Amino acid sequence: MTGERKDGGISRRTFVQGTMVGAAVLAHAGFLKPAWAKKDSGGPAWEVPPLPYPENGLEPHISAKTLSFHYGKHHLGYAAKLKELVQGTPFEAMRLEEIIQATAGKAEHQAVFNNAAQVWNHTFYWRSLRPGGGGEPDVALTQRIIKDFGSPQAFMEQFRAAAVGVFGSGWAWLVEEAGVLKIVKTSNADTPIAHGQKPLLTVDVWEHAYYLDYQNRRADYVQAVLNHLIDWSFAAKNLSAG
Ligand code: MN
Repeated sequence: MTGERKDGGISRRTFVQGTMVGAAVLAHAGFLKPAWAKKDSGGPAWEVPPLPYPENGLEPHISAKTLSFHYGKHHLGYAAKLKELVQGTPFEAMRLEEIIQATAGKAEHQAVFNNAAQVWNHTFYWRSLRPGGGGEPDVALTQRIIKDFGSPQAFMEQFRAAAVGVFGSGWAWLVEEAGVLKIVKTSNADTPIAHGQKPLLTVDVWEHAYYLDYQNRRADYVQAVLNHLIDWSFAAKNLSAG
């Protein structure tokens, strides 16, 4: 056809322009960045990265149904609430970590803190797990664990006991504080980044994290996470990061 070249040219040009605009929009929204880079994206604090694996990626240890509710309803629910709470306030322009630091321990900002910290904690939790996880940390992290806990076995037992022992809703964490690795428990939305600690790993022990799959058997959930899902490479990366 006579118009083919012209139309083709216009189409290609339009396509290229459209692609560039699309890429810019996607990059601005953070979709082209890996999930762990989200905190540097400069996007809104309530923006949640996609799950780093499919909803069925952690089966059989955590079901697709649990991930669907946990990510789609709980995590995104905290994000929607955070957006609602900060719009029109000075928090609106802050990064998620800045909101958490600015509201920690302040009764008048409890709701903002709770929702901001839960957004952050869940993004960190998804990254703490991976399909085919478990096993052992790398040599460098193993040496640090031996120095601060005595042995990998002692660490695993202490971490398991901490996670199982959180009273009510909360989180178990491996953190670094002043050069020492520690296991800490936080209640409800509380987070180590509000306490000057560097998180390396976390396990969510709110009932919504395991009740559909394990009912009241939190110990079985924690054991399955440690044996089959924990992402030691994520912990090692966090340890070596500034
Ligand atoms: Mn949760």
